[in-house]
Amino acid sequence: MKKAIITVTSLLIVLFGAIFLIEGKINNEKDPENDDPVVERPKDEDPAEENPTEDPTENPISEGPDEDIPEEPVNIDNDNLILIESPEVYDVLVNKKRTLSKTYVPQDLVKLTEVPTVLENPEINQLREVAYNALIELFKAAKEEADYELYARSGYRSYGTQESLYNSYVANWGKAAADKFSAKAGQSEHQTGLAMDITCEVMNFQLDETFGETDEGKWVAENAYRFGFIIRYPKGKEDVTGYMYEPWHIRYLGTELAKEVYESGLTLEEYFE
Ligand SMILES: [Zn+2]
Repeated sequence: MKKAIITVTSLLIVLFGAIFLIEGKINNEKDPENDDPVVERPKDEDPAEENPTEDPTENPISEGPDEDIPEEPVNIDNDNLILIESPEVYDVLVNKKRTLSKTYVPQDLVKLTEVPTVLENPEINQLREVAYNALIELFKAAKEEADYELYARSGYRSYGTQESLYNSYVANWGKAAADKFSAKAGQSEHQTGLAMDITCEVMNFQLDETFGETDEGKWVAENAYRFGFIIRYPKGKEDVTGYMYEPWHIRYLGTELAKEVYESGLTLEEYFE
């Protein structure tokens, strides 16, 4: 009898051990559906401390670039959200009040084949054709005029991708925290295919505020408009744009409008008002 109890106990220990191991293995396995490097990190601590240096392809929840991270949640009544009717125009205004439809996918997305990229994810290595051509020229000029090597890190992002990201943050951090650092689906400029997050080697190819202090970042801030881009979320305009300062996030508007917005010193929101 005693022997039988010992045997049963041993079996149970082995069984639980096996379950534990299997579960650990499952949790450690990379889910390709979630293997999205376009992720945001919580900014609930001092944003200046934020310095993601790990490979964001490893874990979409806790690592990755800081993109589209609102400084403070902007209170928006969801009933008052404006659905953008012409999402394909180059001067489309997307923000926390003006949302893209769930089904909007730009029809002229192209792969980034001629500029250096950082991540492997095929979705984010896309832009609308006109923005891509402008990006090529911007990167070329940076190289020729200043010998700076710029890298494309994160371009197009689908509604579904943004939705999963946002939901994963809500699940992990709670809604209040998620709203502080993540855009809701439909409210990210990346869905337009006209926005690109850029970086450089001295940044270790990451995205954070210090990009604005690098020689490359300064050059971009002063010259991007010549190629049709603006720094979409400038410093000190967080309450207007709803997003923290993002020196790495450039938005294509076309050369004419980009020049006007740049010279006005206004945000896109203020310019359109
Ligand atoms: Zn961005």
